[in-house]
Amino acid sequence: MLQMLASSDEQVRPRFNQWLGVLASVLAGEGHELRLRAFSRYQSGHLHDEICRFLPQLIYIDADRFAADVTRHAVEFVGRNHALPVIVGGAYPTAQPDQALSIPGVLAIAIGEPESCVPRFIDARATGDSFEQTPGLWANTGAGVVKNDLASLTQSLDLLPFADRELFDYATHVTRTHSAQVSVCRGCPNRCSYCLNDWLTEIYLGKGPWVRRRSPANICDEIDTLCSRYEQIERLVFVDHAFALDAEWLAQFARVYAGRAGMPFTCHLRANAVDADTVRLLTDAGCAHAVVEVISGSDFIRNEIFDMDTTDRQIERTFRLLEAAGISTTAVNLVGSPYETAVTVEQTLTLNERIDPKHTMTRLFAPLPGTRAEELVQECGWLRGLGEHAFRDNEPLIHMPALPSDEVRAIFDQFNWQARHPRAAGLMRLLDRIPVAPGRSLYDLFVRQPVPNGRLLPADPRAIAVTESDGVIAP
Ligand code: SF4
Repeated sequence: MLQMLASSDEQVRPRFNQWLGVLASVLAGEGHELRLRAFSRYQSGHLHDEICRFLPQLIYIDADRFAADVTRHAVEFVGRNHALPVIVGGAYPTAQPDQALSIPGVLAIAIGEPESCVPRFIDARATGDSFEQTPGLWANTGAGVVKNDLASLTQSLDLLPFADRELFDYATHVTRTHSAQVSVCRGCPNRCSYCLNDWLTEIYLGKGPWVRRRSPANICDEIDTLCSRYEQIERLVFVDHAFALDAEWLAQFARVYAGRAGMPFTCHLRANAVDADTVRLLTDAGCAHAVVEVISGSDFIRNEIFDMDTTDRQIERTFRLLEAAGISTTAVNLVGSPYETAVTVEQTLTLNERIDPKHTMTRLFAPLPGTRAEELVQECGWLRGLGEHAFRDNEPLIHMPALPSDEVRAIFDQFNWQARHPRAAGLMRLLDRIPVAPGRSLYDLFVRQPVPNGRLLPADPRAIAVTESDGVIAP
């Protein structure tokens, strides 16, 4: 198995991914021997060495968003030098199936949830049966391209095996973070336009309810297994955005979890679905930290562009309730969104000042292929046409006349610090206009710190309380 990741690190370790972990467990349960290697760039020598070492019979590639280039190079290399069958699954082929299937050397792509089709495909090939008709797979066959409909969604998630973690070198993750990521559901009822959930909901239409939840008992069984295997776990991270979106399930979960696991945890909350009862249940269960997507202080961007159906008032109330309950908070902000201007950036800073989160996490808007947000920026002619390296290097992928990409980049570099020190933000912007050395301003001396890849990050340590490796994910 190869995991293709969008990362600025040249050498990457496998990143735990629930869907891939479950697929690995299913395959291992059927007697397949698996190895996993992660790549963020095309490294033919490294890939060749790994293939020679493990002599696989088949390569399954899990391709992340913004990892199409590295996937294409790897598949072409395998086809030219090793003639091994290659299946590509994950977010990339799910969002852009035609493009993924057209890569020379791809035998098939797995769309959506891979455990429902990849094992069937592998079995059929091994027994010499026809594999071309496997639901959920598109295949390049001697007779041309075969595009199968998706398989019905697995409704009882409790029937799936627990995700494999050994392949991801999970002991290292636990040693480093003292935490473990757990997924409680699949799918999300929301329709944020920057998220692939929308597309998944559409392609699975008619295949059964998209949002499915594990039983609290099943989740606690997995937690028991994790804690017995990794003794250093001190906190859990529930990675799903839909974690607290079903009040009835949350009430059951809080009761069972508090009685069985009772470990402090981080979860994701959507501010439009949080009230006093939600926070009470979270407190009863032992929630220590909540990650909430603020995204923008502009109602227009948040609701008209991103369809988040979330008001300022709901965001403010959520942070107030969490603070009163003693739950630590992280506000997630997005910079450089479509229609962002200096005014909307100021609105986002002002909103952060009002909600006063304990931590902030700022991301640069990136139009994810297959999303409505990407369609919008394409229609507006704002896509810069940069390669995927730009995403990895935190370069703005869009250029808007009202807020050019270089200004977006400068705002992004400063945003986290400013969100934490809103009153000093005006002064800092002034300092940033005073050069002290080529490419360095007075502001850099005080606030920003150089990091190895040359980017500048905010000095405020509170800004990195939640990291991507915590895996609070969508959907
Ligand atoms: S997973 Fe998150 S970003 Fe995606 S639709 Fe749901 S709430 Fe929105």
